[in-house]
Amino acid sequence: MSNRYSAFSLARHALQPDLPWPRAWHSPDPKPSYDVVIVGGGGHGLATAYYLAKNHGIRNVAVIEKGYIGSGNVGRNTTLIRSNYVIDGNTQFFEHSLKLWEGLSHDLNFNCMVSQRGQIVLAVNPGQLDVFARRGNIMRLNGIDAELLDRGEVMKLLPYLDYSSEARWPVYGGILQKRAGTVRHDAVAWGYARAADQHGVHIIENCEVTGFVMEEGRVTGVETTRGRINAGKVGIAVAGHTSHVAKLAGLRLPVESHILQAFVTEPIKPMVHHVVSWGAELFYLSQSDKGGLVFGGHIDGFNTYTQRGQFPKIREVAEAAVSLMPFISRLRLLRHWGGIMDMTPDGSPFICRTEVRNLYLNGGWCYQGFKATPASGWTFAHTIAHDAEHELNRCYSLDRFEKGGELDDYGIGNWTYKQ
Ligand code: FAD
Repeated sequence: MSNRYSAFSLARHALQPDLPWPRAWHSPDPKPSYDVVIVGGGGHGLATAYYLAKNHGIRNVAVIEKGYIGSGNVGRNTTLIRSNYVIDGNTQFFEHSLKLWEGLSHDLNFNCMVSQRGQIVLAVNPGQLDVFARRGNIMRLNGIDAELLDRGEVMKLLPYLDYSSEARWPVYGGILQKRAGTVRHDAVAWGYARAADQHGVHIIENCEVTGFVMEEGRVTGVETTRGRINAGKVGIAVAGHTSHVAKLAGLRLPVESHILQAFVTEPIKPMVHHVVSWGAELFYLSQSDKGGLVFGGHIDGFNTYTQRGQFPKIREVAEAAVSLMPFISRLRLLRHWGGIMDMTPDGSPFICRTEVRNLYLNGGWCYQGFKATPASGWTFAHTIAHDAEHELNRCYSLDRFEKGGELDDYGIGNWTYKQ
């Protein structure tokens, strides 16, 4: 561990305000060769590099990032974490992720502001409440916490919803996962980056991977805007650009790229103490530490690589917000932004080997990639280190569509609440 962050750093800087803070991670020039190169310095790429070093002792690793750390979806998402999945495979994987979140600040020695404030998903018809009962039973059988709430219990916890007889969507009840919540998203990127750097990983920013070096059907390096870098193994973790980057290695993936927008209102006093989700329209909302209500809905429904959202979607999400929580109509919307997400046919990801030897794939995260970050890095590092899937990511292979192994928790799982 570096001693750049001693217990006295704060006191020293308080007494000497002009003393520059040390960089949280170095800015090295790329070496000619690494044991492992990870393409993409988002949450998943950085977590993979960290667990390669920490769990497998592989430290001669570079993370190649075309922009700056935190510029991608890891710094653009609505910060929600949970493990309320129903399909075998997803259930165990996301619960493992939640357990890693619970110890992450301690593990990285970096405050990721993990807030287990609980998530309540609202049922707006009796059929949905039945689905929630089944979902809760499956979760509990898998050792995951879940509580079914009736209308009265929801009214006590979320008194600000519309319970009037004119309500657009009547509330029948909900399902609560108390251990779900939010995590400060860019702190996750910074925490993993700093911890990986302390293990000797090279984090190379402003460097785009433009091609793969191939010899006899295996990958031996990457071409970048800062020259060729040789590598024993290469992992792709580029989120919304997965299909484009994989194509550089000759892989055609079942992935589409879409924009997902998010929104934040002006700050108000603390009043929303949970994450609230709702499947009549896809809608999820939490209150940030500054007081703004942060919320989002579905992807814009067309393929794109632009990070600018469209107005019809803003209107749709705002309508969903107001129909559930009429008081929101009196707040000003401060900002909205977007990120490019890769969508797969079943809404579940890929963490696997590929047909190109020594080339590994992590992608297809759709709506659920932030909450998956720790388990994704943990299992992807295992797959790269051992050239084999871990039991937790065995279901996330590329050939599952040929073999009938789809994991149809479509979208973020919330989608299935519509049943
Ligand atoms: P990124 O941070 O996008 O990292 C990929 C990196 O690869 C980028 O930094 C990019 O610059 C880099 N890259 C791309 N091409 C190249 C190249 N050729 N060479 C080098 N580098 C390259 N998930 C949840 O679980 N909960 C949520 O509440 C949630 N809300 C969301 C809200 C929004 C608005 C968005 C857009 C997404 C949301 N998600 C959420 C999804 C989640 O953010 C993503 O699935 C996840 O962050 C993707 O993984 P990542 O962090 O590694 O991606």
